[in-house]
Amino acid sequence: MTLAINRLSRRFADFRALDDVSLSIAPGEFIALLGPSGSGKTTLLRILAGLDFPDAGALDQDGRDLLRVSARDRGVGLVFQHYALFRHMTVFENVAFGLRVRKRARRPSKAEIADRVDKLLKRVQLDGMAQRYPSQLSGGQRQRVALARALAIEPELLLLDEPFGALDAQVRVALRRWLRHLHEEMGLTTVFVTHDQEEALELADRVVVMNRGRIEQVGTPDEIYQQPATPFVFEFIGKSNKVPVRIHGGRLQAGDQRFEADALEGLADGSAVAYVRPEHLALSTTPLENGWKATLRHVYLSGSVAHLELEVPGLGQTLEAELGGEEAQRRSLQSGMHVTVQPRHLTVFPLDGKSGEPDLARRRVVHP
Ligand code: ATP
Repeated sequence: MTLAINRLSRRFADFRALDDVSLSIAPGEFIALLGPSGSGKTTLLRILAGLDFPDAGALDQDGRDLLRVSARDRGVGLVFQHYALFRHMTVFENVAFGLRVRKRARRPSKAEIADRVDKLLKRVQLDGMAQRYPSQLSGGQRQRVALARALAIEPELLLLDEPFGALDAQVRVALRRWLRHLHEEMGLTTVFVTHDQEEALELADRVVVMNRGRIEQVGTPDEIYQQPATPFVFEFIGKSNKVPVRIHGGRLQAGDQRFEADALEGLADGSAVAYVRPEHLALSTTPLENGWKATLRHVYLSGSVAHLELEVPGLGQTLEAELGGEEAQRRSLQSGMHVTVQPRHLTVFPLDGKSGEPDLARRRVVHP
């Protein structure tokens, strides 16, 4: 099933919850919609489910105009953050529900329903729990029942809205890995809403980063992390240092130092902003090309990794570097040091001379 989302917009009074959103989803793909609260993820999911309608745009599923198809007939399975299981029904009855309420002509026989529910409960690793009530299950088990219920109708499209959002961190990680395996087994086209970047990067074939009702970038998890297309994506995904710079004669002026950077070719002189990831900053005791003098302010050790807060007088700001714990301990004994960055690890976004905003048309993508 190929799903083509074409220029969808949705307003609530004056507010644009979705603004000209287009995306094509391939059969069997696992898509994560990732963005901060209020970026339009749920609105897009609800439109896909047929629970809400756009003011403009089209939704096409293999040549079928989905906007004319009722939610019930779209063949979508839905799971939300809050379990929404029927509390007075057993696990078995919850999973069987979507089949039992079908019109008589399409309703499977009792025996077929029992067989299908049994198989699904095995698939979500809840066999033996069919007669329990939701109140007798853990949060993670309830979400697996919700997933089995969504799968029971054999949907063509699975829509998941923060399905693990209410669970504690450990259960969340275990369930998302389990979901990824399930997806590899079943190959069901899936759209997964989350504001958790780790979840999106680990689960999805492609991540759609949303901001203020618009798509900022669509790419594989690796592309999104290694080649953020906009300053928003750079700041939202992973950690980053942001440094105001000037492009001047094919090099960067950053504070009191001049830098080489790979992506400057063809860019006119002017103001810009450069980003570098903490893991791409290296420390040295001697001055090197592409570096500043720095003083270590704090070391934050977390497991095997250390985050170093560096004061950089020549830049007038602090930078964060990330090192292995052992190296960080050695470094922390040194008073003076230099922090350097490879030309390929500086991503530069020129600023528009008039608005002061990033001018994305003039950006060059760096391939690390
Ligand atoms: P979250 O992660 O918080 O769920 P989201 O990215 O899913 O955020 P949406 O739920 O799609 O965001 O909402 C986008 C914006 O549209 C929000 O600012 C929200 O307040 C607004 N909005 C959504 N539904 C309605 C509605 N029925 N009436 C008015 N405003 C709405």
